Amino acid sequence: MRLLLIEDEPKVVDFVVRGLRAEGWAVDFALDGTEGLARATEVPYDIIVLDLMLPGLTGSEVLRLLRARGVEVAVLILTARDGTGDKVDHFEAGADDYLTKPFAFEELLVRIKALMRRPKTVSPQILKIDDLEIDRLAQRVRRGGRNISLTGKEYSLLVYLASNPGRILTRTMIMDHVWDESFQGLTNIVDVYVRHLRSKLDDGQQVKLIQTVRGMGYCLKAPDK
Ligand code: CA
Repeated sequence: MRLLLIEDEPKVVDFVVRGLRAEGWAVDFALDGTEGLARATEVPYDIIVLDLMLPGLTGSEVLRLLRARGVEVAVLILTARDGTGDKVDHFEAGADDYLTKPFAFEELLVRIKALMRRPKTVSPQILKIDDLEIDRLAQRVRRGGRNISLTGKEYSLLVYLASNPGRILTRTMIMDHVWDESFQGLTNIVDVYVRHLRSKLDDGQQVKLIQTVRGMGYCLKAPDK
């Protein structure tokens, strides 16, 4: 899962980026509205956390321009203001949720997870492929009824593969969804993590779910019956 934070206060950027990366998220940030809008238009983010008071373009302008360009990403607004009129305006402009500063990191995390569960932005809560079952609410993975314990990144990688069953995903596509730009250029990280994931998921199983597509990338699919 990849998130963009558009926020100009270095302290907020620092604690949000650190916290979310520790939770296994890929996080990029932009310190002004203009740069934020450019990134949000280029990269397929799962969610954008958007401050309102920004240099360049304001958060409201970023949101309106994004929606006008047809970018359907989930947007969580951050603001110091608490006027109800503002709230209504922003929901009308296409915000999905609203969080007033100052906020605790845990609260932000809960809101982000809630947004990711909405049907508009994600596939169903339980992903099932053959005997693999991923419960996105509990973040629990089972294969053949047995629990599999994954790290945050392994889990993000698996959810991305399992959300696109049968589709070949290139290393670049995987990088773009699971890692942020602090890892740019390290494409072999994808192979390393696929290897870890495969050993937890497929080792000792008759049916191998993760396929390597030579010269292209990876694919997760149930065997043809
Ligand atoms: Ca600000």
